[in-house]
Amino acid sequence: MKKGTLIVISGFSGSGKGTIISKLIEKYDNYSLSISATTRKPRYGETDGREYFFISRDDFEKKIKNGDFIEYALYVDNYYGTPGEYVVKQLNSGKNVILEIEIQGAAKIKERFEDALMVFIAPPSAEILEQRLKNRSTEDGEEITKRLRRAADESFFIKDYDYIIINDTLEKAVESLNNLVECENMAVNRN
Ligand code: 5GP
Repeated sequence: MKKGTLIVISGFSGSGKGTIISKLIEKYDNYSLSISATTRKPRYGETDGREYFFISRDDFEKKIKNGDFIEYALYVDNYYGTPGEYVVKQLNSGKNVILEIEIQGAAKIKERFEDALMVFIAPPSAEILEQRLKNRSTEDGEEITKRLRRAADESFFIKDYDYIIINDTLEKAVESLNNLVECENMAVNRN
């Protein structure tokens, strides 16, 4: 059976990448989203096993030792990691698997899975990014400042991605992403 494509999606906090991915999965049934583990606390409305597996630092470190993650990283004081088993199973069953991860993890995935499609979601401008982060009210002022600082650091690594999608309008961004994956599937022999 033809394997699916591994798609790495990164973007600054507040870039809207989560919304784009949700819409893509709602619209097309050949995508599967990998659920990461994290040590960060759930936000209001988040459920264990849906947005993330929320685990303690101790448990996370045990899983690192066990080799359960295909990548993990520290992001603004918390661990985030991708459990490997699910990803490999889904790819083998022909699904396109999406990893929504930050840049350090993305680089590790590219080392291990050289065919991975690397996509960076960027906001139309720095001002819009700051406004989006403030509007969503899920982080306090200090956390927003840390995330904006982190975004500035991350800018240097955008060049390592295969494609950049500007999240101007949601519908266009979703279609651009799906088109990229379809082209990639046609262009690369993944058997
Ligand atoms: P948030 O706290 O906003 O949910 O996520 C913070 C950052 O962690 C985002 O850039 C998100 O893409 C990234 N992230 C989420 N899961 C993973 C993961 O499994 N591995 C890595 N390296 N980054 C992740």
